[in-house]
Amino acid sequence: IDEKCLLIPAHIWTPWFALFGSKSGFTSIKECFGNLDKYIYGVETGLSSDPIMNWQIAELDNRSILSSSDAHSGPKIGREATVFVPTMKQFNPLRQSSNEVNNLTISFTYQDIVDAIKQNPNGKLKIGYTIEFFPEEGKYHWSGHRACNIKYTPDDVVKNGKTCPVCHQTLTIGVENQIRDRSTRIITVDKLRLIKNSAGMTFVYDPEKKRRPFVSLVPLLEVLTEINEGSATKALEKYNRLVNIASEFDILLRKPCAEINTLGGEKLAQAIQIIRNRKVYINPGYDGVFGTVKIFNEPVDSNKTELTSVEEKQPTLFKLT
Ligand SMILES: [Zn+2]
Ligand SMILES: [Zn+2]
Repeated sequence: IDEKCLLIPAHIWTPWFALFGSKSGFTSIKECFGNLDKYIYGVETGLSSDPIMNWQIAELDNRSILSSSDAHSGPKIGREATVFVPTMKQFNPLRQSSNEVNNLTISFTYQDIVDAIKQNPNGKLKIGYTIEFFPEEGKYHWSGHRACNIKYTPDDVVKNGKTCPVCHQTLTIGVENQIRDRSTRIITVDKLRLIKNSAGMTFVYDPEKKRRPFVSLVPLLEVLTEINEGSATKALEKYNRLVNIASEFDILLRKPCAEINTLGGEKLAQAIQIIRNRKVYINPGYDGVFGTVKIFNEPVDSNKTELTSVEEKQPTLFKLT
């Protein structure tokens, strides 16, 4: 086998057949790979977990955390990503304007990417940050049984156990509980470091700033669909017009809101600002059902249960002031 090959376990938290999966996984990288574990330099975290969750696992302390599209179909390419940046001192991913990023024309090789993943200090590239889904949007964030209409929060699982009250089989345990069970430390939200770039995009760092930061995004087409009252045709039309002017990542991460206002209207500028401030509303996914993201708060009617469910939908991380 070529020594340059890299093996990166992917979507490590997915319940079915993943490294740390609740249904068939292992309890550790060591258990899975034996004494070949030293060749596992990085893991790919999947859509249902974000770096914060993975920073709590001791075995991942010295391994790179990677994200990738898990595309399954063309339009989903880039819904998550790992951003590699030059190691040269003057390159700070937070300071980069869109022009500087677009004009970067240094060439890199496979070996440079390998070096970045291995965290080789003499490499030409390093991981700058990762682009993430809000993990609640993933299909396996909370626990439950889709067919039995049972959906448990992480606390519900602790309180009620892992057996389905309807069919009496074991529930599909979501990533949040999986991580709780394996965590060697708990990182609370108030300890995270939040640093914004000049466009107001929040980069989330671990408390000691030892790890690579991340941003959480909602795909532009999803944003446009919500703004256009669910009309997929209108959203796609606007999407195609916008990405002709600037790339999707440029619009979501780096373009000043004033410019987005000019390009795509006030509502889009507002939506992107809300995402950059991490103030979206999410109904978490479970047992194979994707979570849903809402950028604008839905008007709450007089129905009381509706009101509590909207409050519950706002994960603690978004209560940033
Ligand atoms: Zn997949
Ligand atoms: Zn059931």
